[in-house]
Amino acid sequence: MNSSPKQNNGLMCFQKSPYFRLHFLRTLCQSFSQSTKGAKPFILKKCVALLLTCTSSEQKLKQIHAFSIRHGVPLSNPDMGKHLIFTLVSLSSAMSYAHRIFTQLHNPNIFTWNTMIRGYAETETPRPALDVYSCMHMKSIDPDTHTYPFLLKAVAKLTAVSEACGRAESAHKMFDLMNEKNLVTWNTVINGYALNGMPNEALTLYREMCLEGVEPDGFSIVSLLTACAELWALGLGKRVHVYMLKVGLVKNSHASNALLDLYAKCGSIREAKCVFGEIKNKCVVSWNSLIVGLATNGFGHEALGFFKELERQGHVPTEVTFIGVLYACSHCGMVDEGFAYFRRMKEEYHLVPRIEHYGCMVDLLGRNGLVKKAYDYIQNMPMKPNAVIWRTLLGACTVHGHLTLGEIATTQILQFESKHSGDYVLLSNLYASERRWTDVQQIRTAMLKEGVKKTPGFSFVEMANRVYEFVMGDRSHGQSEEIYAKLEEITKLLKGEGYRPHTENVLADIEEEEKETAVSYHSEKIAIAFMLINTPPGTPIRVVKNLRVCGDCHIAIKHISKVYGREIIVRDRSRFHHFRDGYCSCRDYW
Ligand code: ZN
Ligand code: ZN
Repeated sequence: MNSSPKQNNGLMCFQKSPYFRLHFLRTLCQSFSQSTKGAKPFILKKCVALLLTCTSSEQKLKQIHAFSIRHGVPLSNPDMGKHLIFTLVSLSSAMSYAHRIFTQLHNPNIFTWNTMIRGYAETETPRPALDVYSCMHMKSIDPDTHTYPFLLKAVAKLTAVSEACGRAESAHKMFDLMNEKNLVTWNTVINGYALNGMPNEALTLYREMCLEGVEPDGFSIVSLLTACAELWALGLGKRVHVYMLKVGLVKNSHASNALLDLYAKCGSIREAKCVFGEIKNKCVVSWNSLIVGLATNGFGHEALGFFKELERQGHVPTEVTFIGVLYACSHCGMVDEGFAYFRRMKEEYHLVPRIEHYGCMVDLLGRNGLVKKAYDYIQNMPMKPNAVIWRTLLGACTVHGHLTLGEIATTQILQFESKHSGDYVLLSNLYASERRWTDVQQIRTAMLKEGVKKTPGFSFVEMANRVYEFVMGDRSHGQSEEIYAKLEEITKLLKGEGYRPHTENVLADIEEEEKETAVSYHSEKIAIAFMLINTPPGTPIRVVKNLRVCGDCHIAIKHISKVYGREIIVRDRSRFHHFRDGYCSCRDYW
């Protein structure tokens, strides 16, 4: 959309003064219009050139418009209209003027429709963006890949507005807001939910929409895939993929990007790479989804390989690309390379690093044992470190055993917003590793005193289009007896492989899954036992855990992957673990 103005040398000389430019043009045109037949195309060309270089007020634009009309360019000329609207929407106060021109155009092209949607999406009252989309839909004009991001922006704003009245804004109120129920309103509400952390509501509404006989379009599919990614509903996502193949939506690159993102977020890297390979016109969003997906799933070298290919093909990386690149370097232990990429990001691509990029650098140092350097780095950051940065340092202190800095990091974290039980657990583990049991006890007391709520731990797995949820020591499932027999078998087999239950951390682990005897009944182990019973040998097992996987479960799952010959993918609170043949992709750092 950001077409750069193509200026010829004649116009370049007069850039400093728009008035002078106009005057110059007027004089030129007067002389031409008296003698030349080709006056109109000439005026049109010059007016467009002026518009492309014009960054001044609505008044100036009106002058150019009036001038073009006076010199015979009709009001409805699509080329003039397209450029005039494009320039007008950059002045968000001029939307009503842009709209008046828009309504007079004969058959505006998709560029102009998108420009109008974008213009409204960027204002404080983005609702007309949806009306424009509605109108476009009624005229059977197919949206392109630019349409959706602008619409999403408008929807995100609209939902945020309704959230300011109370978060539980009902879907029906949203429908009321948009007068009638049609594909556009359904899409808007579904998407609003999907983008605002309410994926279940999004899926429920999607089903309702289908029951009412409304055919989904690319926009609905993007919302649906976003909700699936949020819920880690891979099975449902795969069905959406089949639907996309059936109706030809795989050609819609925005929907394909959402599909790629879903696979990457669900840890299905093979499928993500397949989708990526099939996208005909790969934009930087497609590259970003794959690079970040590979990096967060623990495939750092591959992520960097794709980054090099992105550069080789002449694409320009964005801030998001560099999140993936820095994370990949961190994961591969490439400290110097990480710093080199950070420099290139600023110097070569002129991107201003955000706090997330600094977080990656702290992780890069901390993960690779340079805990003191990580602390110094935090001290010298150009912005105030947030809780995430300190938590990254605390994680590094726990793994590499740096108690003093661990205490500093915890003190900092506790100054922020809500008290997070996981932070207490990390520090408590650190004390436990030093056998400082009095301090461990003090943390328990502090948690009680501060009223820190322990988050209940649970794991869920998806099988045959159903989601099964397990909590620690769960005996509510119909197959409970079989599951517990399987867990006994697992422990016996694992002990034969040299596994010893990791009791030290259990003593310090003060989340609800704290009892030593319960170590083999942690929710993820129960979920894995359930899947071992109910799926054919060799089937990969995917588990989602709401808390951090404990040390004992991590060791046990590594052994299970080897003994039972299963690939086990666990997404815990902070990252992915791909267990295979006794190893984990996180390299025991999480
Ligand atoms: Zn555990
Ligand atoms: Zn791991």
